[in-house]
Amino acid sequence: MNITIKDKNFETLIEYCMIEKRTRLLGIEINVDYENRTPVFLGVLNGSFMFMADLLKEINVNCETTFVKLASYHGDVKSSGSITEELSISMNLKNRDVIIVEDIIDSGKTLDYLLKKVKALEPASVKIASLLLKPDALTVDFGEIDYVGFEIGNEFVVGYGLDYDGLGRNLKDIYRLCDR
Ligand code: 5GP
Ligand code: MG
Repeated sequence: MNITIKDKNFETLIEYCMIEKRTRLLGIEINVDYENRTPVFLGVLNGSFMFMADLLKEINVNCETTFVKLASYHGDVKSSGSITEELSISMNLKNRDVIIVEDIIDSGKTLDYLLKKVKALEPASVKIASLLLKPDALTVDFGEIDYVGFEIGNEFVVGYGLDYDGLGRNLKDIYRLCDR
């Protein structure tokens, strides 16, 4: 399906039924990995709110949730590279098993910034769950990302929490910017 948001056209890239299936599998993996532990899911606002909600419904180990709000895109279709912290980490993460929940890893600069912040709080462990990953856009080497929903090309996407200039977060499917 094709949609228009403001001045740009987008086409379907990942339908919600695929997101659901993939999220269920990620949940199973996390449940196994964290058996008998009580992880803290640290959601990165705004983009991760839908993924966080769906992923957490698949989790059946005891867990806690908290959020941090970071912004690196400022109404554009490419990252500005400068990160602003709009809501800081409020939970004590010392000796906790932390799972960072991201919507998308693009250049990796946001995650790099956040990982440093989290590690400074002396958690017992830190893992990363990201719905989307753009391997060709990565500029930071994280090794293998623990839980990845889908790898996508170097393209701009909206929907399922992700926005274009504030719009489109409510869309159930994920769309990519058409280059035509
Ligand atoms: P990075 O710091 O890895 O370059 O970018 C991470 C953040 O930029 C993501 O958490 C997300 O908020 C935003 N971002 C990266 N790629 C996209 C994209 O294709 N679409 C949208 N809407 N946001 C993106
Ligand atoms: Mg994000």
